[in-house]
Amino acid sequence: MNKDQARIVTAVGLLVLGAGAAILAGRAFLGMRAVEPVTPSPGLTRAARLGDYFPPLAGTAGDTDVYVFEGREAGGTVLVTGGTHPNEPAGYVSAVVLAENLRAVRGKVIVIPRANASGFTCNDPQEANPQRFTVVTPAGPRAFRLGSRLTNPVDQWPDPTLYENPAGQMLSASEVRNLNRCYPGRPKGYLTERVAFGIMELIRKEKVDLGIDLHESAPEYPVINAIVFHEASAELAAMAQMSLQSEGLDFRLEASPPNLRGLSHREWGDAAGIKAVLVETPNPVQGRLKGRTTAGLVVDGRDKDYLKAARLGRLFIPYDERGVPLSERVARHLAAVAAVLRSLAELEPEKTVVLEGWPAWPRVLDEGLGPFLR
Ligand SMILES: [Zn+2]
Repeated sequence: MNKDQARIVTAVGLLVLGAGAAILAGRAFLGMRAVEPVTPSPGLTRAARLGDYFPPLAGTAGDTDVYVFEGREAGGTVLVTGGTHPNEPAGYVSAVVLAENLRAVRGKVIVIPRANASGFTCNDPQEANPQRFTVVTPAGPRAFRLGSRLTNPVDQWPDPTLYENPAGQMLSASEVRNLNRCYPGRPKGYLTERVAFGIMELIRKEKVDLGIDLHESAPEYPVINAIVFHEASAELAAMAQMSLQSEGLDFRLEASPPNLRGLSHREWGDAAGIKAVLVETPNPVQGRLKGRTTAGLVVDGRDKDYLKAARLGRLFIPYDERGVPLSERVARHLAAVAAVLRSLAELEPEKTVVLEGWPAWPRVLDEGLGPFLR
C-alpha cells in the first residue's frame, strides 16, 4: 500500500468511526423524548390529556397526561402538579406515586406528573447531568428521566432578548421557557405559555378549589423544606405547617411575594381565585456546591462536598452522612399534601377530600419508594 492508499484507508476509517459515534449519540439523544409509562392505580376514574382542556395543545410537545380520581361522595377538588421543573425529581416522582396508588373516597384529585412535558425531553445544558436515574422496585429497576428546568429549545425557540410574562413582569430571556414564570399563560403565546394556559383552563373547567405544585430547590437556597403560600391560603398553610410539626417534620412557611409574578401558586390564586401552595424539598443535584452529578446522587442524595458545605454552615437544611435520599424527599411531599388536605377539610368542611391507597409518609421513609411504584 502506497502513502496515498494509506491516507484513504485512514480517512475512511475515521469517517466510519465518526458516523458510528454520531449514530450512538443521536440514539441516546432522541431516547430522551421517549415518554415513560405511568401506570395509574385501579382507583383512576378518568384518564385525560391537557389538550382535552385546551385543544390547541393536543398533539404538541406541551400536551401531557392528566389523571383524575373522583370519589362517590361530593367534596373539594384538588390539583397536584409534579414536573413543573423536570430537573426536580422528587416533585415528579411524588406525583407518580400519587397517580399509581390513589383512590378517592370523597372529593376529586387531579394529578399531572409531568406539567412541563417538553422539559422532560432534554437536560439542563452544561451541567453534565445524567439523563436518567433508577429506583429499585420489587419488579426490578425502574428508570425515570431527569429533565431540564426549562422547555426544550427544540420545541420553543428562539428566546426573546427580554421576556414580559403574561402577568406583566419583565424577566430574562430563558424564563420564557420556565413554566413557573409563564402563568396565567397566553392562549396564542409561546408553547410554555400555552401549557400554563391549558392548566388554567383545567382549573376553571374542573372547578379546582386548591392547587399544590411540587418542587425542589438547591440545599444552599433559603426557600427549602418549605410551603410557599399565596396570601389567600395563609391560614391553610399555617395549619398544615403546625400539623406537620406535630408529626416531627419541620417545614418553613414562606409568604409568596405579591410582586413576583407568573408563578403557579401566585397566578392560580390571583387569576383563578383558588387556594394555592408550592412545596419545596432539597434537591442535591440542583445547586452549585455539589460535586459530580451522578444518577446515584439523584437517588441517595449523598455528596461529600455538600457535607463540607454543611459543616461550614452554608446550607439551609440539616445535612449529614445520610444525605437527603429521594425517598425522604418524596415522603416529605406526600406528608405536605396530606397536611394541606387536612387543613382544607378543617377550614372548609364541605370541600373535604378523603383519599385511600396512597402510602403514609413514614412508610415511604421506612420502606423506600419501590413498593409504591407499579
Ligand atoms: Zn422548581
